[in-house]
Amino acid sequence: MVVRDNKIELEEKDYKNKFKKLKRYLDKDYKIISKGKDEETQVFIKAFNQKDLRKRYEIIYDYMCDYLDKNVCVVCDFKNNKCIGNRMGTSVHKENGCCYFRNEGFCKLFKNKKCTNPNISCKLFMCPLAEKKMGFHSLPKNYFLLKYFFNFVQRDILRYSYRKPKKDCIEDLLRKK
Ligand code: SF4
Ligand code: SF4
Repeated sequence: MVVRDNKIELEEKDYKNKFKKLKRYLDKDYKIISKGKDEETQVFIKAFNQKDLRKRYEIIYDYMCDYLDKNVCVVCDFKNNKCIGNRMGTSVHKENGCCYFRNEGFCKLFKNKKCTNPNISCKLFMCPLAEKKMGFHSLPKNYFLLKYFFNFVQRDILRYSYRKPKKDCIEDLLRKK
């Protein structure tokens, strides 16, 4: 990378080493001026350049929810309200995937056949069958943006905050910075 006047220009080797050398500039007044090669690096640059942590976390949260919907949750392959786990009998439930909770039953945030509360932990969760189909463990540490911008404790928050509203998840993440 080339660093001049608090501006960072990315080079090929920064992409190769997953921007490791930029970490020291992350919470300082340095901005990346390169455009980014793909959607993920564009979001990375946007998040890196956003020095207000709440706004940075919101950028990552929103992008990841959308990314997981399009690339991970599709593996559940819903047909007539039944996911692949419901259909194959690997889930204890007969329909509506795995949106169930002990002592509560079916999640009350599911209304009119859809989830009314986009939540990153729910979207990250994959049962063994879905993970096998995907060939990949859907854990925060296995997604570049979540690994880069969040510490170990924050990654646990991202993993286990099922159903929590986004604003409460962001508050928890800020508290554990
Ligand atoms: S994670 Fe498994 S049980 Fe849950 S919705 Fe997907 S396929 Fe169904
Ligand atoms: S909040 Fe989570 S558990 Fe509830 S309906 Fe949405 S995805 Fe399912």
